[in-house]
Amino acid sequence: MDLKELEGIISGILDKAGQEIEGVREGARLEEWKVRYLGRKGEINRIFSLMPGLSDGLKREAGRMMNDLKSRLSLMYEEKENDSVESSGSVNLSFPGKPASYGHLHPISLTIREMSEIFKRLGFGVEAGPEIETSYYNFEALNIPDGHPARDAWDTFYINEKEKILLRPHTSPVQIRMMEKNRPPLRVVSVGKCFRRDAVDATHSPVFHQMEGFMVDRNINFAHLKGVLTYFINRMFGDGIRVKFNPSYFPFTEPSAELSMTCIICRGKGCSTCKNSGYIEVLGCGMIHPQVFRNVGYDPEKYSGFAFGMGIERMAIIKLGITDIRYFYQNDMKFINQFS
Ligand SMILES: [Zn+2]
Repeated sequence: MDLKELEGIISGILDKAGQEIEGVREGARLEEWKVRYLGRKGEINRIFSLMPGLSDGLKREAGRMMNDLKSRLSLMYEEKENDSVESSGSVNLSFPGKPASYGHLHPISLTIREMSEIFKRLGFGVEAGPEIETSYYNFEALNIPDGHPARDAWDTFYINEKEKILLRPHTSPVQIRMMEKNRPPLRVVSVGKCFRRDAVDATHSPVFHQMEGFMVDRNINFAHLKGVLTYFINRMFGDGIRVKFNPSYFPFTEPSAELSMTCIICRGKGCSTCKNSGYIEVLGCGMIHPQVFRNVGYDPEKYSGFAFGMGIERMAIIKLGITDIRYFYQNDMKFINQFS
């Protein structure tokens, strides 16, 4: 073998080693490369093993070339190793990155948005009112005077009972505030937190959410109420859902009704959720009481309207098939992340 031949072999090794190290992306592969070229049975030692076969005149120059090859390969290795701080061999740099996780809305917020969107399509505005209320807006203006037995239905938290300041137990006072400030025609839903002195169990929470809505104009009648609420239920739960209205009592509406809809668990066949009736009660409603109109300065001979109120949690429980209201407030990510 002459020097020319040796030069060819060396430059072949350099080219190959350079190409291979270029494609190395992880520590383990780099170590394999090192063994292949610089290891005990690697290319360098194979080249050195050619030495005894060379003539004495060539040995000096050949030795220099081989040492040069060895230091260039060592340099390649060191540079590559410094390139990547994660070339320890334990980290696989070819793995795809972890996807960034984004936050999302809570199931209660999602339900509020969905309900609000449906009413917006019917021309309703969405309003909010104060959570701390006076007894006047919460009771008197809604035709529930002091001492009225119906007050017992709202187990109210008082902030100051003497001054009649309370945490609202329903969203209905927003109705009074809106009517006081505006003249008909009016179409409004209000959403927000309500508070009652209820013990916590699977269906009760001292803090919950309600949506209240009302529509006032000339010649509004019960058919408008039925039309709006049937449309709402069908958009929310599906076209096949039937609704029915049963007589009920609320001090601020006359007549009053309880809306029931086809049980979505058994689709009306009868199950334990609907107590075999095929229907479940979902909201209260009725025609606004003339006294409520007088309280806000509307002439009940001229205007009429309807109002309705429902629990957001109840809607979410039915819609999402949740069995316990407490899940909404426990902040268990395994629960919450199901509704992203
Ligand atoms: Zn059922």
